[in-house]
Amino acid sequence: MIELTDVTKVYSGGVAALAGVSLRIEPGELVAIVGPSGSGKSTMLNILGTLDRPTTGRVRIDRYDVARLSDAGLSALRAGRIGFVFQQFHLASGVRAVDNVADGLLYSGLSRSQRRKRAAAALERVGLAHRLDHEPHELSGGERQRVAVARAVAGEPAVLLADEPTGALDSASGAGVMQLLRDLNGAGTTVVVITHDRDIAASLPRQVLMRDGRITTEVH
Ligand code: ADP
Ligand code: MG
Repeated sequence: MIELTDVTKVYSGGVAALAGVSLRIEPGELVAIVGPSGSGKSTMLNILGTLDRPTTGRVRIDRYDVARLSDAGLSALRAGRIGFVFQQFHLASGVRAVDNVADGLLYSGLSRSQRRKRAAAALERVGLAHRLDHEPHELSGGERQRVAVARAVAGEPAVLLADEPTGALDSASGAGVMQLLRDLNGAGTTVVVITHDRDIAASLPRQVLMRDGRITTEVH
């Protein structure tokens, strides 16, 4: 369970990116966040994922009040529970797919060979068992995003947060990545995905529409 209550975010410089947002996401949900550019979607996702702290308001993850956690406590919570995927993949260049995924497990306490094994299993899960040794430049955009998804889920997080994961992909690759997110959700992962694509959003069971830093509409 993730809960935002009356969350605002004012960036240094004075931009009010969130103007009072309340949202509760239950375990196992698949939620689309939709809205025009600049409406606060990424800011809200970063706060949901504890990458950023709100200016005012409360963030709860499971039984934790995020404001009460130290930066180290927050990092531990994030590492154990939350995976992120971004539009631009954020893979290390010159590093094999299996190691890109395994490096995401560096702070898991697993040995190097255990991390590799876990990484290979995650890549298999996203349909890339045959691409373990490929470097990012040897992969298509859709495959790169699959590697990024594998890295995000290798630690078996309860929650996967994706910020426009299909934004840099052609529509066929984008559809493949969306199907992958649906499959992960079907296997129990809570998924929150920001999308520009109205068709993608309309195909998901819950949609949260944002405008000017507020939630304007909820569709269930
Ligand atoms: P979206 O993801 O919906 O496009 P964002 O959450 O990225 O919107 O941005 C919301 C508003 O906050 C925008 O006006 C943007 O310019 C501003 N903003 C985002 N990040 C920062 C930042 N780090 N510092 C200052 N302003 C920011
Ligand atoms: Mg954004």
